[in-house]
Amino acid sequence: MKKVAFYTLGCKLNFSETSTISRQFEEKGYLKVDFQENPDIFIINTCSVTENADKKCKKIVKEAKKISPNSYVTIIGCYAQLKPTEISEIEGVDAVLGAAEKFRLIELLDDFAKAQDTKVLASEIQEATVFNNAYSINDRTRTFLKVQDGCNYGCAFCTIPLARGKSRSNTIASVVESAKEIAATGVKEIVLTGVNIGDFGIVDGKRNERFADLVYALDEVEGINRLRISSIEPNLLTNEIISFAATSKRFVPHFHVPLQSGSNTILRKMGRRYLRELYVDRVTKIKTLMPHACIGVDVIVGFPGETDELFLETYNFLNELDISYLHVFTYSERANTRAAEMDEVVPMKKRSERSKMLRILSEKKRRKFYTENLGKTFTVLFEEDVEDGKIHGFTENYIRVAAKYDPMLINELKLVTLDQINDKGNVEVLEPEFVFEKH
Ligand code: SF4
Repeated sequence: MKKVAFYTLGCKLNFSETSTISRQFEEKGYLKVDFQENPDIFIINTCSVTENADKKCKKIVKEAKKISPNSYVTIIGCYAQLKPTEISEIEGVDAVLGAAEKFRLIELLDDFAKAQDTKVLASEIQEATVFNNAYSINDRTRTFLKVQDGCNYGCAFCTIPLARGKSRSNTIASVVESAKEIAATGVKEIVLTGVNIGDFGIVDGKRNERFADLVYALDEVEGINRLRISSIEPNLLTNEIISFAATSKRFVPHFHVPLQSGSNTILRKMGRRYLRELYVDRVTKIKTLMPHACIGVDVIVGFPGETDELFLETYNFLNELDISYLHVFTYSERANTRAAEMDEVVPMKKRSERSKMLRILSEKKRRKFYTENLGKTFTVLFEEDVEDGKIHGFTENYIRVAAKYDPMLINELKLVTLDQINDKGNVEVLEPEFVFEKH
């Protein structure tokens, strides 16, 4: 029985895809093992957004060869699609597969027989038109379910459309089937993932269905306690979806909404499809209907043309907005993007200063959000996340909660009252009250 090990870099989408590919291997009789367990085959799923993607890829290949010198090393993922030739030149790599090929790798790689030359099977990204269903099953608490792939937007800084292709989706019927399958394994929370999830509904280049209808259909699936939307563009997070989430049985009051800049000048340069006024509307709508909702924000600092003044616009905008945390990205030039050709480049030192300022702001926001919720009662889904005698989990509105470790808590929903914020910044609960089986 051949042994195969996986390594994933990047986003939830990559994790869901690795998980599905690993199940394909298991179905064919391969044994899935940990990275250190002398595998015969390594599958490394790469990311192009990660800083130093090339260095990371080389490092993992080197490590793999150290563990198992005769192993067959395959590289897939966004970086593999963008730079197949470069990757094929890394010592120790046996095969590189692109976006259109990665889900067929067992059939394409010919029993993983080693050859003199590295196999490069990466078609042009235009060929990646098929949607491949994927979901991750890890510790049975949360699952990432891919519902959409690719993007038609073409923001000036982004390589994702080049690495993942055009927007395409699963069908509502098929997502519902997957959700039922996942529910049957005992998973309590599904996180819907995609590249541009609000653009859900395009099949073979035609819009057939709507994201809002997917939301309605999933809300009816028995056996799943929680549904979370991973991240959605502000222009696609409609009032219809927000209003539904406010009354939903299963969709949680947590929204992660990329802003990228609080300056309209920069938003226009980035080619984003909204202005800051729309963002304020969305936040106001969410907070009016769900005052306890958690709102996460992606923001990029140091985009070309971001002067001190324009950065301050972003800072002040975020400071005044009723949001709960930020994910801060420091802009870095990516080959083949419009932004990489732009003038008014921001010096690296300024970029990191701005990033630091926003990270501090994020902590302030998170603490404020947690403090506002102290004394209130929520449901926590405890995960296999144990440290220093404490077990952790998240409330429906994404507050990270710590409680005294008890193995019986894993994958259980408990009703808790949030007592205090501990020195690690988590909210501590003294006594999870009782098992809360809502559905
Ligand atoms: S919406 Fe913009 S940033 Fe997001 S994947 Fe599409 S092109 Fe990239």
